[in-house]
Amino acid sequence: MRRPVVDLSDCVDCDGCVSVCPQVFARSEAGYIEVRECAMYPDALVEEAIMMCPSHCIFWEDDEETTE
Ligand code: SF4
Repeated sequence: MRRPVVDLSDCVDCDGCVSVCPQVFARSEAGYIEVRECAMYPDALVEEAIMMCPSHCIFWEDDEETTE
């Protein structure tokens, strides 16, 4: 499964991703944007957040599970 990640070093704290997709992006108590653990990430909403992020610091990461 792929999951969105945020490169916090480029994040400018605009809260855009949180308004577009609050079920995935949230502001932690420490004040950083965090990606919530989800069983399934809503592709369309995450894509929208990726497109509107002014710093282009949200991207997909492949989270490959190895089953043995
Ligand atoms: S939209 Fe991008 S810059 Fe804005 S808070 Fe989210 S990750 Fe940070």
